[in-house]
Amino acid sequence: MKDENYTFQIGPIRPPNEGGERSLLLRTTRNCSWNRCVFCPFYDGKNFQIREVEEVKNDIDSIKKIKDILTDGSKEVNKVPYNCLSVVSGWMKSGERTVFLQDSNSLIMPTDELVEILEYLKSSFPSIERITSYARSDTIVRKKVSELKKIRDAGLTRLHVGLESGDDEVLKLVEKGVTAEQHIDGGKKAKEAGFELSEYVMPGLGGKRFSKDHALNTAKVLNQIDPDYIRVRPLYVYPGSDIYKMIEQGEFQVNSPHERLEEIKIIVDELDVDSKLCFDHSWNSWRNKEGALLFDMDYEGYRLPAEKSRILKLVEEGLEVDGSRHQGPLF
Ligand code: SF4
Repeated sequence: MKDENYTFQIGPIRPPNEGGERSLLLRTTRNCSWNRCVFCPFYDGKNFQIREVEEVKNDIDSIKKIKDILTDGSKEVNKVPYNCLSVVSGWMKSGERTVFLQDSNSLIMPTDELVEILEYLKSSFPSIERITSYARSDTIVRKKVSELKKIRDAGLTRLHVGLESGDDEVLKLVEKGVTAEQHIDGGKKAKEAGFELSEYVMPGLGGKRFSKDHALNTAKVLNQIDPDYIRVRPLYVYPGSDIYKMIEQGEFQVNSPHERLEEIKIIVDELDVDSKLCFDHSWNSWRNKEGALLFDMDYEGYRLPAEKSRILKLVEEGLEVDGSRHQGPLF
């Protein structure tokens, strides 16, 4: 048998919880359909591509073969590339329950093609309980609710959306390519179709100039959507990224650890949602008075509204800690 039978494509990123839960990674598209957000370096210079259904099905077949040789203890295992082996063995150890579709916007696939892949995936691995994907709000808006329901019924159950901000000035500044209204419409539509919805918010994305409006309007948009999960992923400035150049040219002033905590304080104060607020990304590196992580790095997070005052107390504690002690790649 040839080596390529034991190979499948793996994209560069997935949400933190999909890594922690050792989700199987299945690439349905390559790179990003938008690729212009100034803070995001992941697909720089790479063309977007929707993969052929047959190509993705071949990947599913390869995953099945890798799973079989791992189960049998066959020497063929030596022919499996390390990254594929690692993904499949991690997934097997975690119970083969969850799958994440890569890359950045699988929902952009023609509905029937995505449904065909989901059905093939589920019939190949009946143990699968949850399939998730990144999705852009403007893509969700463009799909009919009936199409979204068809995709949901075929097994894609959770969408991870990069809201980043609910402020139109900030969204324009960072070239998100989506308005606050589109975020609201997309979020509501996803929920109407029955998806579990994770919305990512990015403290620091408005810099010093838009800090307060960024926080207030992000809370407003989240209140309209009422997502299942709100996941906090602070701005990280990658050297060489467009936002890095904006900083060098004096067009963007990075705010301090305390200023970002003030944003979280405003957002949490203003939120009127029935959601879980998660600090499950390693860039949430604020410290408490003992020097440990300020927020629990938990995939299920804090419950809102029940734990609102607990989160606000933690924010106050973080604000009392000297700014230089908030370690990590953030600042
Ligand atoms: S849409 Fe997502 S993946 Fe694409 S450039 Fe923006 S942040 Fe990066």
